[in-house]
Amino acid sequence: MSKWNLIIDVAECHNCHNCVVAAKDELVGNHFPRYSAPHPAQGQGAIRIERHVRGRGHHLDTAYLPRMCQHCDDAPCVKAAGGAVSKRADGIVLFDPEACRGRRDLTQVCPYGAVIWNEELQLPQTWFFDAHLLDAGWREPRCVTVCPTRALQAVRIDDAAMAERARAEGLRTLHPEAGTRPRVYYRHLARIDGVFVAGSVVDAGAAECVEGAQVELLRDGRAVAQARTDAFGDFRIDGLSPDSGAYQLVARHELQGSARRQVQVGPHSAVLGDIALEP
Ligand code: SF4
Ligand code: SF4
Repeated sequence: MSKWNLIIDVAECHNCHNCVVAAKDELVGNHFPRYSAPHPAQGQGAIRIERHVRGRGHHLDTAYLPRMCQHCDDAPCVKAAGGAVSKRADGIVLFDPEACRGRRDLTQVCPYGAVIWNEELQLPQTWFFDAHLLDAGWREPRCVTVCPTRALQAVRIDDAAMAERARAEGLRTLHPEAGTRPRVYYRHLARIDGVFVAGSVVDAGAAECVEGAQVELLRDGRAVAQARTDAFGDFRIDGLSPDSGAYQLVARHELQGSARRQVQVGPHSAVLGDIALEP
């Protein structure tokens, strides 16, 4: 049976907040019996955008991570709710707006911080995939329809096909160690949880930046990643695991020479500064 999944491309999210506003517009002040009581106008919404900054100086990378209910297949909220939260056959997790009343404890069991608390109605609430619209014939939730970069994509396919797509496209889920089997998949998640090595290649006199130099990152003598410097002599090798340890970096240009550096990759991205080539 086909089920709903959401695919989010972190590299395409530009922090415009259209999805956040669309979710608020849909849910604040509107009552959808059996699906949702009105969400609060103030405070964090059911969809939020997290900002992540890596690097420093002009080697700075800012990425945005849309977060919402992950519609987990093995959801702690469903287990804790005693029937007040249900998993639909199409994969969507729904908090019953009547049965959940007073269940503030459900805001604590979600490993994704995806449950907001409606103080006025004494209700835990989530982004429920706009199930009321999908059930009325919509082809995708509102947040997807308003995303100008198509960073959000709702996909209804069977689990085997989704698993194959995730494998083929390098999609990952948040906090897989929680064991909740989320249905929200992320592309380019390394922009959030990976680190990079960056620097600038300059000539021997450190007077000019060197465009087109090849930069290789080696481990135990074997190249594991490479990049080429841009018009400013800058390079960035991204997607490394934090705390992955010692590497050797080799920069080469056919006319300007080469240079080597030892690099220690710790918990944060490493910005090496200028690397001067020697003839
Ligand atoms: S609408 Fe799209 S680009 Fe804008 S914040 Fe949401 S996910 Fe990012
Ligand atoms: S993200 Fe949280 S609220 Fe949503 S299904 Fe998973 S555990 Fe439940």
